[in-house]
Formats: sequence, structure tokens, C-alpha cells
Amino acid sequence: MYIVMVTPELAPVAKVGGLADVIFGLSRELEIRGNSVEIILPKYDCMWYDQIFGLCVDYDNLWVPYYGQWIHCTVFFGFVHGRKCYFIDPHSDKNFFNRGVFYGHWDDAERFGFFCRAALQYMLMANKHPDIIHCHDWQTALIPVLLFDIYANLGMTHPRVCFTLHNMKHQGITGEFIFREIGLNPPEYFRADRFQDDNNPHVVNLMKGGIVYSNFVTTVSPQYAWDIRTSDQGFGMGHTLYSYQGKFGGILNGVDYDVWNPETDNYIPHKYSAGTLDDKYKNKEALRHRLLIRQDLKPVICAVSRLDHQKGVYLIKRALYYALANGWQFVLLGSGSEQGINDEFWRIKCELNDNPDCHIELGYNEELSHLIYAGSDLIVIPSLFEPCGLTQMVAMKYGTIPIVRNTGGLSNTVFDANYSDLPFEQRNGYTFFDPTNEALEHAMQRAVGLWYEFPLQFRQLMENAMSYDYSWNHPGQHYLNVYEFIKNK
Ligand code: ADP
Repeated sequence: MYIVMVTPELAPVAKVGGLADVIFGLSRELEIRGNSVEIILPKYDCMWYDQIFGLCVDYDNLWVPYYGQWIHCTVFFGFVHGRKCYFIDPHSDKNFFNRGVFYGHWDDAERFGFFCRAALQYMLMANKHPDIIHCHDWQTALIPVLLFDIYANLGMTHPRVCFTLHNMKHQGITGEFIFREIGLNPPEYFRADRFQDDNNPHVVNLMKGGIVYSNFVTTVSPQYAWDIRTSDQGFGMGHTLYSYQGKFGGILNGVDYDVWNPETDNYIPHKYSAGTLDDKYKNKEALRHRLLIRQDLKPVICAVSRLDHQKGVYLIKRALYYALANGWQFVLLGSGSEQGINDEFWRIKCELNDNPDCHIELGYNEELSHLIYAGSDLIVIPSLFEPCGLTQMVAMKYGTIPIVRNTGGLSNTVFDANYSDLPFEQRNGYTFFDPTNEALEHAMQRAVGLWYEFPLQFRQLMENAMSYDYSWNHPGQHYLNVYEFIKNK
């Protein structure tokens, strides 16, 4: 099958969150299975260009409609760790993708609206007729409507569209000007059954339109698919998803085990597997050594997270203080984009600077994250909502037991050591329901209790966690089933 991914992110060159990893991992899996996959994304100035191999001009004469005029674009081609990628570079004084950051500008909707039109215009001019165009998040939600209402009339009758929702918090709320920008007639599209937001009739909701127009809609875990249809986690999209539930489903993300595998990981000093778990403790020693934490008979609990409201920052903070109050150790690797949250964690970092049982590292540090996963005993993930979550699956691969809030993808992947219905060999962590200090502390107590009192059972739990296959193997097949289903419709 010939598949084109249209996406705002791709790991490792343009990564903000898990979406970037999904595009890379899924594309690779699909290629391994014999499909042809191409990826189209904007040519941001802030990409990691040293990770793009053989960057060259592929198409220099692309003219893209914009408010009835034309913007000249160059399309570059390059390999990103083997993936075939096309980067769209508009030449305009708007500087759509030369802003030093990926998102966060007042005209984000306009920037990505242009990207959608440009991606399709490029496919048309380059004579690409994929079986499937796979779009991701609101930034690419205008692709299906443009395809079916404009580009199908220009000869692109072949492709079917799969649209994946990675996070319902960001839906692309904008004004009706967006239709004029990309060459659509606003009254036809700014309607309750199309792009009009369900809660605010004065605004356009791009994600909603993407759902309406796509052939199939997926989200990144079965539980999140349920949560966003039936609770406030849908951020107002529940009604639309309910209406289109016949073409909607959840597919769990996979983890790239080429990157995340303690048997082959070059970022950690001692490689190990479930059969050589003693070597994990050498990494624990190395982690403590590096972060100036004392060597002692104590569990190391970690958190590796964006410091965002979604991730339950107040519970992460609570977990840290609770661990220290109980004489355990805590390592936090957190990156924040909100000023208030950043300031708070910098204050905590200064306060605990001399504490020998704690280290707080603020910022994004991929290399250190590997050592933290390898060297910790437990990881806390108290998310308020979690579409899928990669952290818990990565941690389990490293034999680090997750303590998670039972929501979204976390509840599809972590099965409580005490309360799960599964046999013990299939239990792999600790879960709690209420987003409260008490619920979190209770789960932490149970986990650390097992670590201290029943080390053999704890070790068994680690082996259970490591034996799960959360690679792209299964999700890759599920996506192919979806593609096959819509291709033949
Ligand atoms: P989200 O996409 O919502 O941030 P996920 O759990 O899906 O959450 O993916 C997070 C990914 O980003 C994981 O691979 C995790 O290791 C990584 N990560 C998160 N914060 C940091 C950080 N501060 N430094 C390094 N890696 C991080």
C-alpha cells in the first residue's frame, strides 16, 4: 500500500511530544511490512537538521493558493533515519515556519491551514496518488475537506483519509477566515454539521471538520476513545464523536524498541535484560553517582514528564515530597512551557538542592531520560488525562514499575499488582483512580511496600513488565486493517 503521512511533527527532527514518536515508529513499522510510506511536514527553521540525511530540493516550482493569490514554495526531500520525508518551505514574508518554535503563535491556524493546502498541491503537482493519506491532529484537519471538495475534482480521486486524534485538548479553534485563506467558500463549511464548534457557534473547530470529512478516525488508545466520547475529556467533542462512532476507534500507540531497549541502549552504562536484572542495579548506582544522590538501600522513584497541567503536576510535586518524607529517593526530569509551573519547580529545585535523596533536572534531556528509566525502581505518572502515554511503556521495558492514574492509555497498559483481574504473571504496576494526594500516596505505599518487604515478588513484577510487547508490531497491523477497510469502501 502507498501511504502518505501529513504531520506537524516527526521524531527526532521536529518533536514536541509523543505525536512525533508515533509518526516515526508507525511509518517504520508500515515500511517493514512492505508498504511505501512518505512523510510530508513543514520545513521549520528550528528542526534538527543534522538528523536529516541527503537534504535536497525535490520540487522548486510549487505555487500554493493563499487568499486568492499564490505563494511560492520549495519542497525539499531528505531521509530521517531511513524515513522518506518531504519538507514544505513557503517563501513568504509571513515566515510561516521560520519562527524558532513549532507552535504557539497567534496565527497557528493560518500557518497550518496553509500547510494543508500546500501538502495537497504538492501531491497533485508531483503526481502522487497514495492509497491512504494519514493526517494527524488539528494541524492537518483541513486535508480531507480540501481533498474531497477541491483536489478530487482535479484528479485526486484515489486517496482515502485516516485522521488520528492525539490530544483532544488542542482542537484548532479559529475564525471563518480560514476557509477564505485556503480557497473554500465560508458559508458552505461554517455549519453545525461541518466545522462549527459545538459549544461556541461563533468559531470554527478544525478538528471537528476533520472528523466529519475523514473516512476513518482513530485515537491513540481504546480507553481514550471511550473517555473522549463519554466524558469531559473530549473537551466538547463527545457529541460529534458519538455521531460518527461507526468510523471511529482507538489503537494503542507503540514504542520504538530500537530506541528504547535496555539490551542495546548506548545511553546507559550497563546493558541488561529480564534475564540479567542484576545489571539494572549497576545503572541505579550510575544514576545516583551522576546526579549526586547517596548510595543507600532505598527505592529510587522517578518522573519523566512535560510539566503540564495534563500530567498532574501537583501530584508529581506531591509524589516528590511524599517520597522524601518517607525516606525514599526521587528523581525528576521535567520540561515545562508554562511560566508559573516552571517558576514553581525552579523554586523547589533550589529548596532541595542539597538534599542527598533527590535530584530535579529541569529541561528536555533525552540522553539523561534513558539512564533515569534504567536506574529507577519506580516511576510516577499521575496524569489527569492521558491519550496513550509512552512513558509507562518505555519504563516497563526497562523494568521500572509504573504507578499511574487509571485513565486513557495508562489503563490499557498498566495492570495493578494487587487489584487487577489478571493473573499475577500479567500484572505490571500500580494504578489509582482519584486525582488526589491520598490515592496517589496509597498507590506509592503499596509499591514501595512490596519493594522493601517482598523483593522477590517485586522482581517478578519487573519481569512481568519487561515481558509485555508494546512495540509497533500490533498497532502496525491494526492501522493496516483500518487502511484496508477504507481503501475498499
Ligand atoms: P506527551 O506526548 O503527552 O508528552 P508521552 O508519554 O506520550 O507524553 O511521551 C512523552 C515522551 O517524551 C517520552 O518518550 C518521554 O521519555 C519523553 N519526555 C518527556 N519529558 C521529557 C524530558 N523532560 N526530557 C526528556 N524526555 C522527555
